[in-house]
Amino acid sequence: MDNAQRTPTPQDLDTLSRQLGRPVRDVVEIGARCVCGNPLVATTAPRLGSGIPFPTTFYLTHPVITAAVSRLEAAGVMTEMTERLSRDSGLAEAYRRAHEAYLQARNEVGARAGIGEVPEIAGVSAGGMPGRVKCLHVLVGHSLAAGPGVNPLGDEALERIAEWWTPDRCYCEGVWDVQGQAPSRDLSRHTRTQGLGEAELAAKRAARQGGHEADPAREEDSK
Ligand SMILES: [Zn+2]
Repeated sequence: MDNAQRTPTPQDLDTLSRQLGRPVRDVVEIGARCVCGNPLVATTAPRLGSGIPFPTTFYLTHPVITAAVSRLEAAGVMTEMTERLSRDSGLAEAYRRAHEAYLQARNEVGARAGIGEVPEIAGVSAGGMPGRVKCLHVLVGHSLAAGPGVNPLGDEALERIAEWWTPDRCYCEGVWDVQGQAPSRDLSRHTRTQGLGEAELAAKRAARQGGHEADPAREEDSK
C-alpha cells in the first residue's frame, strides 16, 4: 500500500474500535485492507505513547480472520509448524528471513511515525519468530501487511483458512456493530473469543499462556 492508503482515517479508527470491541490506541497505520477498504490489520508503532516498547507491529483486527486463525491454533497447527521448522531447513531459512523482514518493516513503521530506534526490542520480532510458532495471528498479520512470499508460515495459514476467508472477497457485512457509538470501554475479551466453541476456547487459553499475541491495550493496562 502507498502512504495515502496506509494513513488511518477517523473512520478507520472508528471501524477498528468496533472490530476489536474496545477503543484503539497507538495505531499509526493500516497494515492491510479488505477489498472494500475496511482495515484488516492495525499497525502499531514500536514504542507506545506511554513509552513502552512494543514488538508486535501488525495486529489482526478483522473478526472473521481472527476467528478463523483461532480455529487453526485450536487444531494444533502451531505445534505442527514448529515441529516442521526443526526438520525442514529450507522452511527454517525462509522463516528466519521473515523474521528479518519483520524487523525491517517495524523499523520503517517507526521511522514513518517519527519514532527513533527502540533498542529494548532490537532483534526481537513477534509470534515466535525466528525459531518457533507461538502466535498464528501475528504471522497472518505480517503476511497480510507484507504481501505473499515474505512469511511462509503466515502465507500457509492464510491458505488454510480459505474456507472461511479469502483476500479477494469482502466478509465485513454484519460482522461488527455499525450502529451507535464505537466502543469506549474495553470489551476485547468478548470479541477475541467470538465464534469459538468451548473446546476451542480452552485450547486458546492454553496457547495464550505460552506467550501469545500481545495486545497494546493490555500491555498498558498491566503496567
Ligand atoms: Zn470488507
